[in-house]
Amino acid sequence: MTQEITAKAHAKVNLHLGVGHVREDGYHELVTVFQSLSLYDVVRITPADVMGAGCVEKLQADAPGVPEDASNLAWKAAEAVAQRSGEQLSRVAIELRKGIPVAGGMAGGSADAAATLLAMNATLQRPLSEAVLLEIAAELGSDIPFTLLGETRVGTGRGEALTPLMSRGQYHWALAFSKQGLSTPEVFAKLDTMEREAHLSYEAVAQALMRADAQTLAEALHNDLQAAALSLRPDLRKVLNMGERAGALRGIVSGSGPTCAFLCADAESAQEVAAELGVYYRTATATGPAPGAELMEGSAWSI
Ligand code: ATP
Repeated sequence: MTQEITAKAHAKVNLHLGVGHVREDGYHELVTVFQSLSLYDVVRITPADVMGAGCVEKLQADAPGVPEDASNLAWKAAEAVAQRSGEQLSRVAIELRKGIPVAGGMAGGSADAAATLLAMNATLQRPLSEAVLLEIAAELGSDIPFTLLGETRVGTGRGEALTPLMSRGQYHWALAFSKQGLSTPEVFAKLDTMEREAHLSYEAVAQALMRADAQTLAEALHNDLQAAALSLRPDLRKVLNMGERAGALRGIVSGSGPTCAFLCADAESAQEVAAELGVYYRTATATGPAPGAELMEGSAWSI
């Protein structure tokens, strides 16, 4: 019998990202609306044949810029599940197939960690509850709880305290990726040097989501980090303008960037925007909301 667990790790976009004051622990107080997207990485877990310390034998990724050692969030997630379970687990190998851009502001690493939590949990004799997985997720990183649950949710605190948000309709996105990533801490540091006002109300986004109206949502999209990302990467202005000229309702920098996310009226328009930007950049289309981390068919682990 084959032993293999595969899980999808979905990307996110922030429909609203309000950045408040810096807390004593160094994190910024956030008010954000996350939406999970159909774009995903695949995390595959198989038994490892080499004995040794720790539950992960090795990690391989198919994209440059992804650490293949214990600093990878997926690796940390696997070790955390093993430790919390208290079970004597056989060692595993982790394989990441990246569909989400690396350091792209779409929570790729966090999504991989969330999918690994779920995948490793499926190898346990006594699986951990969702509440415990969420606790581990929050300890590992601010965006990981959301990428575990997906859909549309408000995140407060560091973004890890989640409440569901009523969202009607499907939204169509065109995404333009950048060859070079942006470091999230650098973008926050840049923001701290800028004169600005924090936008902590997501009321306009909540109302647009209730109405299932892409045009209203487009007008309500807001990202406090955008000015800082554009200041570090002025070339992104051109990308945003180009996408809007190509027919997108609105373009925003996704999270800390540099991915630019374009909300479009329908699937056809998203295809057109992606095709036009595709002449210059790597692009994709996606829909949201999407689920959180999910096990894929054919996953099986028996001992
Ligand atoms: P966020 O939107 O959560 O701030 P991001 O999408 O901008 O994150 P990631 O793709 O998560 O960025 O990667 C940020 C950095 O984290 C990478 O440059 C890499 O060094 C490290 N990293 C750790 N684990 C992973 C992973 N599984 N996939 C990609 N990068 C990872």
